[in-house]
Amino acid sequence: MSPRPAPAFSVLICHTGVRLLLANLLAGCLIAAAGMQTAAAQSAAPAAATAPAAAIPESAEDGAAAAGPRPVALVVPFAPRGPTDTVARALAAALAEQLRYPVVVQNVAGAGGTAGAAFVARAAPDGMTLLLHHVGMATAPALYRSLPYDPRRDFEPVGRILDVPMTLVARPDFPVRTPADAVRHIRQHQDSLVMAYAGLGAASHLCGLLLSMSLQVDLIQVPYRGTAPALQDLQNSQADLMCDQTTNTGAAIHAGRIIGLAVTSARRLHGMPFLPTAAEAGIRGLELSIWHGLFAPRGTPQEIIRRLALALQHALASPAFVRSMNDMQAVIATPDQASPAGLKSLLESELARWAPIIRKAGQYAD
Ligand code: ASP
Repeated sequence: MSPRPAPAFSVLICHTGVRLLLANLLAGCLIAAAGMQTAAAQSAAPAAATAPAAAIPESAEDGAAAAGPRPVALVVPFAPRGPTDTVARALAAALAEQLRYPVVVQNVAGAGGTAGAAFVARAAPDGMTLLLHHVGMATAPALYRSLPYDPRRDFEPVGRILDVPMTLVARPDFPVRTPADAVRHIRQHQDSLVMAYAGLGAASHLCGLLLSMSLQVDLIQVPYRGTAPALQDLQNSQADLMCDQTTNTGAAIHAGRIIGLAVTSARRLHGMPFLPTAAEAGIRGLELSIWHGLFAPRGTPQEIIRRLALALQHALASPAFVRSMNDMQAVIATPDQASPAGLKSLLESELARWAPIIRKAGQYAD
């Protein structure tokens, strides 16, 4: 007897994306969730994948207007083409493959990542709107006294995605090139040096904060809606310095469009061994790795969260995702970390870690 196709896509008769995705998630047709990519399941995939995939819109706004099932929105709280967006686009492709359902990135940028998080906190808890955020989820409560959401109360953690080191970088015509000279230059010219960053609570803000605390300097800080536009200005010498994840700076450093001064990892990176660690460069206390996690709005049914976490774990193991993240020096989460419990305990420890640092720095956004 030939194997029976997975019962997945009888749900194609559903009329809305929500019902289609819910059916995919709940009917057990999520091949990744089951952990068994059987021939039967694979053979069921084309029919299932084609219909919704054909409806993938250019943007989420187009998607809302388009007829047919709506895709899952993976909300990125920063500008397109930055590091968070880069991770999100790679993950959206891998997740879509696991879910056999379209996942599109939606950038809701502003206020150091809090605008996007607030947007998802208010979204319907149906698994159709997810948030890809980073350490900013843990720093915002200490920085924003009137934050419109509570990271603990208003989200269901799905799982940790990966960790990425940061780099301290300078404009291409920065007058000094060695880390030791750069430290001296930053100290001497702190009143006139412009540091670009992605808003209060962003990873680039934290890195700049640690840099300022370590070197006891007070640089001019200019906020952007994400570090993609900030990097653009750095390349054009409209800013002097920036801290950013290797997911954004790696290619620009290699191409000579900016100068790499140091990495914030404990050891040098395999992809850029020429860059000293911050400690080697004489910047103590600037050890920082940026975690990224997947969150759903509070009230999303636990069965959907469980299935999404399983899909996430499989997506993180997909060869294309592993290759591209490895090239960008990211460390992918283990299955234990990429779980609701793993992300929940990370969030707790990060909330506890950052509050005293931010308090000590006396920083408030409002
Ligand atoms: N890297 C940015 C940050 O500083 C955000 C981004 O644009 O992805 O958090």
